[in-house]
Amino acid sequence: MKFLLLFFIFMVLLWQWRHAREQKVKMAARKDTPAAGAIEMVKCAHCAIHLPSTDAIRGSKGLYCSAQHRQAREP
Ligand SMILES: [Zn+2]
Repeated sequence: MKFLLLFFIFMVLLWQWRHAREQKVKMAARKDTPAAGAIEMVKCAHCAIHLPSTDAIRGSKGLYCSAQHRQAREP
């Protein structure tokens, strides 16, 4: 009977330890993924300013903040 009780306590402690570890992994995964609706920031290949990727202008040598900078870099 004594061993059964020790076994039960051991199983409860093991369960709690695994549960705490899973929570830690979940929290770490949540930190790594960007928040929903977050916009990726990109760097202009000419002036190095950071801007939302949705506003960036694509050129053959990279992304630019404006058409003028694309023309300056890629004549
Ligand atoms: Zn620029």
